[in-house]
Amino acid sequence: MTRRVSVFGATGSIGANTLDLIRRAPDDYRVVALTGGRNIAALARDARELRAEVAVTAHEDCLPALREALAGSGVEAAAGEAAICEAAARPADWIMSAIVGAAGLPPGLKALEQGTTLALANKESLVTAGPLLLRTAARHGATILPVDSEHSAIFQALRGERPETVERIIITASGGAFRDWPIERLAEATPEQAATHPNWDMGQRITVDSASMFNKALEVIETKEFFGIDPDRIEVIVHPESLVHALVGHRDGALIAHVGPPDMRHAIGYALSFPDRAELPVERLNLAKIGSLTFRDPEEARYPALGLAREVMRIGGLAGAAFNASKEAALDAFLDERIRFTDMADVVSRVIEIMSAQGLDSAAVDLDTVREADKAARIRAEEAINALQS
Ligand code: NAD
Ligand code: MG
Repeated sequence: MTRRVSVFGATGSIGANTLDLIRRAPDDYRVVALTGGRNIAALARDARELRAEVAVTAHEDCLPALREALAGSGVEAAAGEAAICEAAARPADWIMSAIVGAAGLPPGLKALEQGTTLALANKESLVTAGPLLLRTAARHGATILPVDSEHSAIFQALRGERPETVERIIITASGGAFRDWPIERLAEATPEQAATHPNWDMGQRITVDSASMFNKALEVIETKEFFGIDPDRIEVIVHPESLVHALVGHRDGALIAHVGPPDMRHAIGYALSFPDRAELPVERLNLAKIGSLTFRDPEEARYPALGLAREVMRIGGLAGAAFNASKEAALDAFLDERIRFTDMADVVSRVIEIMSAQGLDSAAVDLDTVREADKAARIRAEEAINALQS
């Protein structure tokens, strides 16, 4: 049976891996919508090749170029946030949410409203608006499948188990680019150094977030939101080999681990063929050759983002939205070399401190309140960034 699929963030790292799997079985899929940013050549090439119904760029000023690149192909061209949301409302059986950042939330919600299966790589939408996302899915009979490798691993390890026997969930972290640097040197780390990942090949932003462990901080919150587990039962462990992605611990002491190569096509492919398991073009691990797997506790001083995640979960409500938005602003400032690597956590910490005093915990989590908290957090973050520079 041919399935209708759409890919949001098609030109990114997750998007390209998703299209790679779709290309391997072209007869199984009909592509509805593909979206991208300024890389119009890639978006148009993919949309033409896969005969998409519509291709959407996030940027209105890119529309003429997209139209030109798609001329004569039969693929519709569109641009802007509203057009991305409209594309998410086009009927599809499976939709990949792989836009990076808070911008992934509105189209994710639109997709859920049509009762589809949403493969969720965009962790930011769970962090900023977890209750809203789950509520929307439940109301419309939609399914959310996690695509973040750790969450796909947890999801797989939990299959067939009863939730009440789960004692803890452990997610692994590679430790990022600076795991072996002397802590005193972190302040001098450049964006280029931070954008090199020891094991995974990912987009620039998430790679820098891996070095700071803001990525793991988002993932801890994502775990709490998606699996509904008490934050005290979520652990993070540094595992430099990135082969064990997560472990689920039961009350009888058993740990069920998910082991696989660091290749996102596993988690994407799992979500694409769920509840079946399709044959996937990922490396088969030779454990004898690998020899040993190592684990160690994350150092608090090296990774202050992890402590901030605990604080955000303690506050609840809109703290996740403020956390993610201030992190995005701090990351931009670091990439622009306006602040130092170690300043990012200070900026986020400052924003959470100020905003929590104004009652982040009490507000309802809906699209408007999330947008407001996001906007306020970016303004506060900008103030904190300016204060650091002066
Ligand atoms: P990427 O930077 O490679 O690609 C991002 C995509 O989003 C691109 O198509 C880009 O054009 C689009 N985009 C960027 N800003 C946008 C905006 N404002 N509006 C609309 N579209 C926009 O990112 P990625 O590494 O593929 O990550 C995508 C998502 O998946 C992120 O949420 C990330 O945290 C998550 N994720 C990625 C990986 C990975 O291996 N790359 C693993 C786990 C989770
Ligand atoms: Mg991950």
